[in-house]
Amino acid sequence: MSRPARSSSGDSPAVAVVGGGAVGVTAAADLAARGASVTLYERGDLGAGSSGRAAGVLYDAYAEDVDAALAARAMERFRAIDRSLPGFEFTPCPYVIAVRDGDPDADAVPAMVDRMRSHGRDVSLVTPDALGDRFPVATDDLAVAAVAEGAGWCDPASYVAAMGRRARREGVAVETETAVSLTGDAAELRIEADGGSGAETREFDAVVVAAGAHTADVLADVGVAVPVVPYRVQALTTGVAYDGPMVYDASAGVYLRPRPTGLLAGDGTEPVAADPDDYERGGDDWFVDSVTETLRERVDAVSGGELNSERAWAGLCTATPDGDPLVGPVGRAGSLFVAAGWQGHGFMRAPAVGEHVAEGVLASLDGTDADSESPWIDPFDPDRFDGGEAFEITEGMSVEGRIGEKR
Ligand SMILES: Cc1cc2nc3c(=O)[nH]c(=O)nc-3n(C[C@H](O)[C@H](O)[C@H](O)COP(=O)(O)OP(=O)(O)OC[C@H]3O[C@@H](n4cnc5c(N)ncnc54)[C@H](O)[C@@H]3O)c2cc1C
Repeated sequence: MSRPARSSSGDSPAVAVVGGGAVGVTAAADLAARGASVTLYERGDLGAGSSGRAAGVLYDAYAEDVDAALAARAMERFRAIDRSLPGFEFTPCPYVIAVRDGDPDADAVPAMVDRMRSHGRDVSLVTPDALGDRFPVATDDLAVAAVAEGAGWCDPASYVAAMGRRARREGVAVETETAVSLTGDAAELRIEADGGSGAETREFDAVVVAAGAHTADVLADVGVAVPVVPYRVQALTTGVAYDGPMVYDASAGVYLRPRPTGLLAGDGTEPVAADPDDYERGGDDWFVDSVTETLRERVDAVSGGELNSERAWAGLCTATPDGDPLVGPVGRAGSLFVAAGWQGHGFMRAPAVGEHVAEGVLASLDGTDADSESPWIDPFDPDRFDGGEAFEITEGMSVEGRIGEKR
């Protein structure tokens, strides 16, 4: 079936969003809420990509000004969505960044905390003794810690499902089980969609590519190269009861959070490029062993007993050369946009990024982004790269990555 005619009418621009993860589904709902005629394409079910495999750790403890503002807005929206969207629950929970004795990153923590506080984030530097007095975690081997109070956790799949329902209510046409490819040029950007009702080609005023680990492949269809490289990370759950804070043991590179029936822990970053169509989705034995060891050292409830991992799994994050995402117009003026490259922090930023993308796309379409009040965030400009650069994949949560002096 072919439907080449532009589907916009009157003042309502037709926008396609490619990718039904946390970012795409939020952008789609927010675009529709602002009057766009939106079609959301997802090759599987909503949340089938990284969002459905994420840990749901949410915090606003960022040292860079743009990151801190975006995270503050995201947390504000998670709380509001908890009140307004049935099926989604945000659980407030402090987030601890802990650095061990002998780890050179310990020296950087006070300055990191100062920068977070300078952006209004409720983060404090604490001694290991004070941390141990407050929480059921081992602190004897720590040099220093920071506690971010404005944090929390959620079930990421429930966010995508609830936001998907909101998108439908706002009038978004949600096409699941529909893989798309892009064709055409700047003047006539087209989507070839292959879904349940067969193949069809459609033209849109704007296309937003929020295809997670497949983003570079989708954009390559129309000759746009972006350095967004997938890499594998892992997580596990266990039934051990834990009612402490979320902890990032920066020296071990392991994070953990409570969950209703136990504890979730992760990292296991593999700093090599992964094939999004062919990667190992189960957790590795080495990952389970190394996380088990860290949990024994850190969590009082685990130290004496068995961990008994219930489930271990892997998913993909996406790296960029400078660790910042690509968000905004890309390749061709006005009609093609990208939102990807989260370096492990895409889910927690999705409520703010989706809103930002919706406002930016609509401003670009009506020409109001041409003045000095561009809605887009400069450090995230997709065109800051050629697309062909070679770079090392680094883990996104490290203290070094958070210190925030790169911009
Ligand atoms: C184990 C693990 C733990 C994590 N923990 C956290 C965490 O605690 N906090 C956090 O912030 N982040 C976390 N992340 C990272 C987080 O999952 C991602 O940054 C985030 O989910 C990215 O969302 P997205 O919408 O950009 O991408 P995705 O959720 O991957 O969505 C992209 C979608 O596009 C679809 N798609 C791809 N190609 C096409 C096509 N051609 N046509 C149609 N659809 C297409 C895919 O099927 C997919 O559903 C974790 C990731 C993993 C794997």
